[in-house]
Amino acid sequence: MTRILIAEDEARIVSFLEKGLRADGYTTMVAPTGPEALALARDDLFDLLILDLGLPGLDGQEVLAQMRRRGERMAVIILTARDGVEDTVAGFDHGADDYVTKPFRFEELLARIRVRLRDPQPATPLVLEAGGVSLDLRSRRAAVGERMIELTAREFALLETLLRHAGQVLSREQLLSHVWGYDFDPGSNVVDVYVRYLRRKLGPDVIETVRGMGYRLRT
Ligand code: CA
Repeated sequence: MTRILIAEDEARIVSFLEKGLRADGYTTMVAPTGPEALALARDDLFDLLILDLGLPGLDGQEVLAQMRRRGERMAVIILTARDGVEDTVAGFDHGADDYVTKPFRFEELLARIRVRLRDPQPATPLVLEAGGVSLDLRSRRAAVGERMIELTAREFALLETLLRHAGQVLSREQLLSHVWGYDFDPGSNVVDVYVRYLRRKLGPDVIETVRGMGYRLRT
């Protein structure tokens, strides 16, 4: 079981992270203040730390510096709204392994977590395929059969999420949080709009509407 410590004081982000990480099979614990984060960030308790910088009581950079001084070697991913070069450099200097700025896409954070944990699970395939649709994650190219399709970044992200869960029904809420991040109004119809865009490009039958539940990519 992989254990992840979330040092974050913003309740909305905490709940978004916990829900997503648990759905992916991780065990999570939350430290809402700097001192709590520092006390809990021990290699015998956790495999990875997701660290907000603006923590009450003790700044995230200081938490990181002190835990590294103490000898903790767990992977640390800084998650912050501060995107200045100085903060990024200081983070790496203090021993961070990666740096993700808010707002972020959950899929991207998950991918970075997997890299840091060097999951023994098979590596994520570079080409996702289902229902006659293929998506090359390196070249960012999509195709239906032999026909190449141009996608915008958001369409690509939505299709990637549907392909990763091909055959499963994904609710609008799940798609919103995976593709648009937590910073989105849950009442928004943006998912439906983008599904329409994708259908126009991929053909009407690739993405199925499951009434009252959400969408599913046909396999
Ligand atoms: Ca904060």
